[in-house]
Parts: sequence; structure tokens; C-alpha cells
Amino acid sequence: MRTLKEVNIGETVTVVKVTGEGPVKRRIMDMGITKGTDIYVRKVAPLGDPIEVMVRGYELSLRKADVEMIQVEKQSDVATHRETPETKDDKPSVMKGNKRIRIALAGNPNSGKTTLFNALTGSNQFVGNWPGVTVEKKEGRLKKNADIIVTDLPGIYSLSPYTLEEVVARKYLLDEEPEAILNIIDGTNLERNLYLTTQLAELGIPMVIAVNMMDIVRKNGDRIDFEELSHELGCKVMEISALNNDGVMAAAEEAIKAAKKPHPLPMHTFSGPVEHAIAHIEEAVLHDMPSERQRWYAIKIFERDEKVLAKLGIPADKLQHIEQDILAAEKELDDDAESLIISERYNYIAELLKDSYHKANAGGLTTSDKIDRIVTSRVLGLPILAAVMFLVYYIAMVTVGQKASEWANNGLFGDGFHLFGVGSSKYETKLEEFTNAHNAIKAFVTEETAADVAAKLNPAAEDFDAHTAQATLISYAETVPNDAKATLNIVNEADLSVESVEFTSEDLKNAVPVMEKYGFIEPNPAADGWWIPGIPVVIDEMLTKMNCSRWLHGLIIGGIVAGVGAVLGFVPQIFVLFLLLAFLEACGYMARIAFVLDRLFRKFGLSGKSFIPILVGTGCGVPGIMASRTIESERDRRMTIITTTFIPCGAKTPFIALIAGAIFGGSPWIATSAYFLGLSCIVLSGIILKKTKLFAGEPSPFVMELPPYHMPLMSNVLRSMWDRGWSFIKKAGTIILLSSVIVWLLTYFGFTESGFRMLGDDEIDRSLLAKLGKLIAWIFEPLGWGSWQKAVASITGLVAKENIVGTMQILYPNGINAAFTGRLAGYSFLAFNLLCAPCFAAMSAIKQEMNSARWTTFAIGYQCLLAYIVSLSIYQIGSAINGQLHIVGLVAAIIIDVAVLYMLFRPYKEATKLTTIN
Ligand code: GDP
Ligand code: MG
Repeated sequence: MRTLKEVNIGETVTVVKVTGEGPVKRRIMDMGITKGTDIYVRKVAPLGDPIEVMVRGYELSLRKADVEMIQVEKQSDVATHRETPETKDDKPSVMKGNKRIRIALAGNPNSGKTTLFNALTGSNQFVGNWPGVTVEKKEGRLKKNADIIVTDLPGIYSLSPYTLEEVVARKYLLDEEPEAILNIIDGTNLERNLYLTTQLAELGIPMVIAVNMMDIVRKNGDRIDFEELSHELGCKVMEISALNNDGVMAAAEEAIKAAKKPHPLPMHTFSGPVEHAIAHIEEAVLHDMPSERQRWYAIKIFERDEKVLAKLGIPADKLQHIEQDILAAEKELDDDAESLIISERYNYIAELLKDSYHKANAGGLTTSDKIDRIVTSRVLGLPILAAVMFLVYYIAMVTVGQKASEWANNGLFGDGFHLFGVGSSKYETKLEEFTNAHNAIKAFVTEETAADVAAKLNPAAEDFDAHTAQATLISYAETVPNDAKATLNIVNEADLSVESVEFTSEDLKNAVPVMEKYGFIEPNPAADGWWIPGIPVVIDEMLTKMNCSRWLHGLIIGGIVAGVGAVLGFVPQIFVLFLLLAFLEACGYMARIAFVLDRLFRKFGLSGKSFIPILVGTGCGVPGIMASRTIESERDRRMTIITTTFIPCGAKTPFIALIAGAIFGGSPWIATSAYFLGLSCIVLSGIILKKTKLFAGEPSPFVMELPPYHMPLMSNVLRSMWDRGWSFIKKAGTIILLSSVIVWLLTYFGFTESGFRMLGDDEIDRSLLAKLGKLIAWIFEPLGWGSWQKAVASITGLVAKENIVGTMQILYPNGINAAFTGRLAGYSFLAFNLLCAPCFAAMSAIKQEMNSARWTTFAIGYQCLLAYIVSLSIYQIGSAINGQLHIVGLVAAIIIDVAVLYMLFRPYKEATKLTTIN
């Protein structure tokens, strides 16, 4: 028997059987791959895996390893069977009250739930998480009728107990018992969407079906017989277009009506042997349950659904009795119970649609197909992906995002800015002119060459006089020979890198009129255009006027304002980035990214979608971590969250440059090696973690729908951007604020000879922070840099990594290169601060995305541990190679590294059982 893996591209085959068991099999079948289904193999991803197939009129991406489960034969034209459904006898049901009504929106991913939800609730929304998991929960009140609560359930294909989304949705429907379900269905793909409908209908909750995307259906010329559907399904079927706000309120009103009416029991029946078993099950164990619920539970028991069996706690003897019935049905129909139910549902739907659904253009290429021919093709797939990613990175990190972030950091939360940029360029030209002239003078007039001249040119000196200075400069310039040259080391403030610039006597002469023009004083930005002073400047002035006490002044400016500024500095970049990501997601390209890259990333335990967070992480780890939200699989998402911050982010580059400059003579290889180190740690962690118990239990079937491309609704994209951005501001904001206040207090207070008091800027060595540093410095001794100064620098780095540079500067007034015993110690310091816990903002992002204290602790603990191991290995093994043995440390490093290597190469088998929440 052939499996789908051996089928050639362009071939159509018919499914004979899906073998294997567990969640992967269930997922494959839930997506409509059942006995007798035709599958058209469309293409292979550029890297050779996964494959893309057409099944039941939509595109699906499947991993080669998974499709081995699918046994196929040459396409047969044997029509899929069978009997016409009969309606069940009506069962009694309960009258619902008239007060608060909750409507649950349920449907497949991409069916338009969120669009409908937004159309129904407008801005009356509350976004949170479902308890204990990272699945987003959205609730809102119906426009104009605040008594009606609408819940946007996670997108699901089935009510199986395997994926997190399914468990969450199922739990809500069963335990919270909403008054009505509004089942939203993608009208361009009725077959697969109705599969969920058949399950929802069994829950015993009143239901209304809304067939969405009717605009496209009409445009395609497809016809749907709503009368027939409504009759067969036993509930109202409405036509809507959520995007055009067409018919949405009518659908909601029908749902409200349905909620008030007794529940009609509709729906299809399964084949004889299955119904027989189900009837037995209802009779044997479910008679105490409300009658409208019995059928759902009976079917689940028949499917041997573990969660339901555990919940009901059926006595062993009865269970055995039931098992006999199930086995009998399985034997008679020659398939396992779960597969039987799935197949029969799909067969029923196929039968139903035969009469009520007419496709105008069956089999032709849609626009989306044509786009995909290029976008995911073997040759162009990867280059297009690279181009798109470059654009996202460029727009968010380099152009728009960075400009805006710079404005927030240096303008709004810095000295100030020119309103609408008016006067900006004028000021910059002036500043450049002045700085060049100033540097030329500084190069020639030094303490050694002309100390008396230098003294007269200093505008900060008490006896400074512009005329004298001018005269002194002119006469000095005349003494300089025409061919004289002087060099000046110009320090880049951002990363302390030093550039040697040569000036000629020509430059010096040109500087004379410039200095005359500015009177030796740096041009003031406020002189041009509309200058708005930054918030710290304004508050600083205010506090000075109010005669605020020194410590409170410092706390407000250095702790609170700086903290708020640090958060807001990220915000523009984050918003731009989330806007772009929301767009990629809504237009359908995100699924293609995963399709193209999956093979590469799966090798080290990540998924195709992990690429985006890591890319974004090179700019800032916070949005990087938040971008992991688009990864459906919980396991891949956690893995991505843990590893994303290993990559050097924008804030880490200054201290990397600092080490490179001070210790490695500015070698560019140091920064390159930092990226390499970060990437290696991601790969290493992926491989090792996926073999641990924590991750081993959750294989993630990569069965992913490739939704058709379309132009998304801008308001939805904006809303998605806003939701994510705002949640960042709230959570990161509070944590950063708190941490920067605490670190400020620790830095500026300490015990001195005159008791506990506030300290000046140069007294940091007496601070509480220094005490703390001294307390923990020994920990870093084996890494080669166990001094309290470096420990303190690492701590201030937790507020924001760029702080490491500033702290080191203060604590080592004689130069950073004196701070380290050698190159190895310096690099070990770099590696540790690169890999260890990220800044507090990123840690709070981790906490937010993990939505679990345990996982957050694990993530941060793991990062610190890995950082320690890497730094220890670098220092100890490096020292040994250099001939400086530290026996204990070396032995420890070797033992740990052997353990790591063992983990790395240890064989392992992917588990087939899923562990999800209960
Ligand atoms: P969800 O995954 O079920 O929440 O689906 P979304 O609401 O995010 O919608 C998925 C995509 O379908 C979005 O890009 C929507 O703009 C689009 N969409 C939703 N409803 C309609 C509709 O009625 N017509 C069309 N043409 N597109 C729609
Ligand atoms: Mg949605």
C-alpha cells in the first residue's frame, strides 16, 4: 500500500485509511482526510518539507513524517457513500430565562470570527487570557444591547481534546453553558467548516449558523441553498459578510431568539451499529444527565475521549460493558471508533452539500492559487521570504520604528525636540559646523601643546571672555605651520568606540570664523524653530522651582521619569512592528512563512513561525517575545520565548562594542561572534530542551491550513496592533517602573561614615547596590570576572542592557581595559551578559506570554544557567589552552560540557501523547 509520502506532485489519490493513533492522527482526520477523500498533492515547500495538498476544496500543509500515516490508492471515482439522515425525535429541553444572554462565537480559524466579533461589539471589548493558558480570551457586549455578552472562542476545527484551543473552547461550552452558539462558517469552504458544526449541534445548546464571506461566495458565482441547509441542520442559517458588516446584527438577533426558545434537537444520525452503541451508552451511564446533553457525552464516550471519561468517572464494570458495544461497532464497520465518527460526519456533510451547494468554478485556479504559485515556489519562495522579512525589519527597526523610538528616547524623554521637525535641520547644520570647528581646535590646542591657549578658549571658565578668546585663537592659528597636522580621538558616546580623526592647519584656520559666529558656545536647539523641551527637562525645572528635596528630585527624574521613558522608548517600534505582523497574519502570508521555513526550524525543536520572533529580537527582545503569539503550538511557542533573547538586541550592542573596543582593539569579529554565539545557543537549546521531560510530552502535529490570500480590513489590523501594544504598555510599564525605582534607590543610598544617606554620582561604591554586588561577586569568580563592579554592572543591565556601559564607565574611571584580567575574562563577561536573563521589560514580556509563573521562572532560570555554563566553559577551557590551569573550575566545566554534549546527541523519540490542561 502506498502512503501519501510517495505520491508525486500533481497526482490525485484517494485515502484508504489513516493509520497510527493519538492527536496527530485525530488532527489529520479532523481536517477532513478520511476514508474515501480525494487528495491532490500540489507542491513541496522550497526546502523539501512540508508538502501542500488540496483536500475538500482547501489548501493544507502537512509534514512528510505525518503523511506516512495516510494510506492511499489511485484515485477512484467510487462515490463516497451513504444513507440519508433521518431526524431524531425531539427531546424535551429547558426554557431559558430572559435576562443575561451569553452568545459564544465558535468556528474554524480564519472563518471571520474576530471580524464578526468586532462588528458586533464595537469597542466594548475586554481582552484577557483564558485561565492558566496563553490562549487569548475576548469578551464584549453587543452594540446597543449591553445585556448580551458575546465571547470570541479560539478558532478550532473540531471539539477533540487535543489542542489547547479545542480544550479551552470545549470547556467553555460545556461548563459555562452559554445560552446560544453563533457558529460562523466560511461560505467558501462549507465542507470542512460544517464538520465542526455537526459537533457543536450535539452539545444541546441552541445554535444559529452564520455563513460568512458571502461577498466572495456571490462573486465566485457559487450558490448555497439556505432553505435546504437550514432544514437539514435543524437551525437557522443566516447569510452574512462580516467584513462588509452585512447581516451581522440579524444573525445576532437570531441567536438571541434561539436562546429564548426551547432547543430543537436536529442533526444527522450515524450508521446503525454506531447509533446502537450510542443508545446503549446513553442508557447505561448517562440517564442522570439533562437529556439535551446526553448525546454529546455518549458520542464522546464512544470515541473513548480521555477527558470525558476522566470527568465522568464511570465505574469499571459499566465501562467494560460499554466497551463491548464499541468493539462490536468497530468490528462490524472495520475501523476504530474515533475514525468511524469522523468519517461518518464528513460523509454526511458531503451528502448534504450535494443538494445544497453548487460551485460555479470547481477545480479552476483561484487568484490565491496563482499568487502561491510564485510566493511558495521552489525557486522564488525563499528569496521572497527574505525580501518580506527584510522589509518588516527595515520598516520597524530601521526607518519608522527607529526614528520614532529615537524621538521618544532623545526628544520626548531626552533634552527635547523640534515640533514637526521645524528648525531641526537648521540646528543640525549649525551643530555640525560648530562641532567640526571645535574638534579641529581641540586637536591642535591641547594641554600639552598650548595649555594657556586652551584655558582661554574654555567657555566654562570663570574669566571667559569671547573677545579675548577670539584674539587668542587667531594669534595661535598664525603660529601653526601650513603643513601641520593634528589628530583627535573622538569618542562615540553610544558605544564608547574611539575614532581617530586627522585635522590640517587649513581646518584650524577655517574654525576661526565659525567660533566667532557662535561665540565659542555650542548652538542652542531652542534658538531655531519650535523647540519643545523633553519631559525630564520640564519636570526637572518644575521640581527645582518647587524646591523639592534632593532625594525626591533624584527619584522622580532618575527613577520614575527614566523608567517611564524606557518603556515608552520601545512603544513606537513595537506598534509599527505589530502593525506589520498583524497585516502579514491577516492577509495569509504568515502561514506561508511557516510552510517555507518549517523544515529548517523543526530540526532544533522550533517551528517555521519561530523565525519572526528571532528576527524581531535582533531589534528588541520585547516585541520579539510578543511576536511569538502567532505560533499556535504551545510547545513551539514556549521554546521560542525562552530562546529569543539569546540573539543580541539593539540594547546589547553598546556593551558588546565596549568589550570589543576596550579589550579586543575594536575587532569587528567580536560583534559578529556575539550573533553567532546567540544563534548557537538558540539551536543548542532547541535540541536539548526538546529532549527534556518538559517538552517531550507534547508533539505538535503540523497540520496547517493555508488560507486564501486576501486584503485584510485595516480596522482589524489596527485593532490587533493596538491590543498587543497596549498590553505591552500596561505590563512592561509597571514592571520597568518598579525596577528602575528600586535600582535607583539602591544606587543612590548607602551607609557612609555619616550614617545612611543619599549619595552623589561619584559615590556609587558606597551604595547598597555595591553592597549587593560584593555579596554576589564570588558567583562570577569561576567565570573570570568576580569583582563587585562587574556584578553591579550586570545588575543595572537588568533594567536596560545599555546601562552596563554607563555603570562600567562610572566604576572604572581609569578605563575599562584595566577592569579585566585578560581577553578571556572580557569575553566571558560579554557572553554572560548577552545570554543571561534579559532586561526587566523582556522578562515581563516573557511572563505575559507564558502566562504562568512556573514557566517564567523556568525560562529565566534556564537563561541564567546557560549563560553561566557558556561563560564558565569559555573562561576555564580557554585558560587551560592558554596554559593557566584552574583545576577545580576546569574539571567543573568539563563535567558540565560532557553532560551538555550527552543531552545534545542523546537519541530520543517523539512522544505521541499530548498533555494538555484538563
Ligand atoms: P478568525 O480567525 O476566525 O478570527 O478570522 P478573522 O476575523 O481574523 O478573519 C480572517 C480573515 O477573513 C480576515 O482577513 C478578514 O478580513 C477576512 N474576512 C472576515 N470576514 C469576511 C467577509 O465577510 N468577507 C471577506 N471577503 N473577508 C472576510
Ligand atoms: Mg480570531
